[in-house]
Amino acid sequence: MIIFFDFDDVLFNRNKFISALAGELGLSLDEFLRDYNNYFKKKKKNYSLREHLKILGKFYQREKWDLFFKDLSKFVYPGTREALSALQRGKTGKMILLSRGDKDFQEKKIQGSGLRGFFEEVIIASDKISFLSSRNFKEEVIFINDKQEENKKIKKYFPEFKIAESLDDFKKLIKKI
Ligand SMILES: [Mg+2]
Repeated sequence: MIIFFDFDDVLFNRNKFISALAGELGLSLDEFLRDYNNYFKKKKKNYSLREHLKILGKFYQREKWDLFFKDLSKFVYPGTREALSALQRGKTGKMILLSRGDKDFQEKKIQGSGLRGFFEEVIIASDKISFLSSRNFKEEVIFINDKQEENKKIKKYFPEFKIAESLDDFKKLIKKI
């Protein structure tokens, strides 16, 4: 069995993280979200911290950001480490982290979350469907992802995949299998 885990909003509390990030950028949450919408979402671009800093007329201060990203474990949902650890111990399946977004930004978040070691592979793709289409799956696949729009597409292209919308949903699913 292969288990694909999404990162944001499945393992990692993205909203809580964004509030902290806004603060670190010297912005209110509203200001951050306004920038996010105007410069990234509306332009269909992945959020990039480096690009956002440029827009704000700020330099990327390596030391400051290294420190900020160093330990993001407080943004990991409670019970996540325990659940991943149990899956790993139980050899439930090949665990792959599949996240969509800006490579540098996602890498830093995943590294800082302390969850990287649970996964046999960590993939940051610009499009999940294209990535999945490039692989050949012979084994059973479970896909854990909170984005319903994406899940609809997955269901269409990979009708044999089982889909869970959260870690809890997934736990229920594996009990049934
Ligand atoms: Mg997500």
